[in-house]
Amino acid sequence: MIKAVSDRQLQSAQAHWLIFSRDKILVPKSTTSLYLGGWSALEFIAHHQASIVELPPLSEHHSVGAPVYIIDTGAEHIEQDDWELTSLRTLLAAGTDEQFNVLARAWQYVHFLRTHRYCGQCGAKMEQVDWEMAMQCHQCKHRVYPRISPCIIVAIYRQNQILLAKGVRHKDTNMYSTIAGFVESGESLEQAVHREVEEEVGVKVKNLTYFDSQPWPFPHSLMMGYLAEYESGDIVPEEGEIVDAQWFDIDALPDIPPKLSIAGRLIEAVLNKHKGG
Ligand SMILES: [Zn+2]
Repeated sequence: MIKAVSDRQLQSAQAHWLIFSRDKILVPKSTTSLYLGGWSALEFIAHHQASIVELPPLSEHHSVGAPVYIIDTGAEHIEQDDWELTSLRTLLAAGTDEQFNVLARAWQYVHFLRTHRYCGQCGAKMEQVDWEMAMQCHQCKHRVYPRISPCIIVAIYRQNQILLAKGVRHKDTNMYSTIAGFVESGESLEQAVHREVEEEVGVKVKNLTYFDSQPWPFPHSLMMGYLAEYESGDIVPEEGEIVDAQWFDIDALPDIPPKLSIAGRLIEAVLNKHKGG
């Protein structure tokens, strides 16, 4: 649940600030962490005071020590000495797990509000309800919740090798990663793994084991990770999606995603599996 922030709260304590401008976040210049401090330093966005909301932690376990406040300035371009707009990806990659969680949730919340201003059923204006994270149509009462898009992500292994693919986004680099894709309506996670693997690299897999999951806020995916053993088939990269895919010996890997991402941790799990025999 998101709560409005009172004047007294603003004056009383330090907070972590998530100030969004389009898809960027305002941070103190030359830093890669969220601004932690008082409202008084943010005079240049004082006209947004009425829209400040607090993002409560999911549980006490997830608390980041100070309250987390969100301001969405929409398309307003903010230029201010000593501050700069930074991309979400940069902040996610640079920060701690706690910062990752806070950023991922805040961005999904902001994205949800921006894209649900009107009712999909009757076209009237939507309003935020105050008892749960949802928007409701004031006319027909149709209610919507933040969208979460399930995605599978899978590391394929055989003996001392792992199958990695280079997506079109990384075509000019040596960056290879695991196979991933959206789950379709009516499909189980396991069916999605088999389908995506066949579509993207043309091979069949077996012995799926669930690994872990990770929310991925671009813009609202929930990545569900699997390990899968190779069964049969030659690699055929999917045209338009995958520029190259290969079997790599685990001691001769190309550039791979950082361990912050579930892709990086899946690859590490294959390496550990082999070392452990
Ligand atoms: Zn409606």
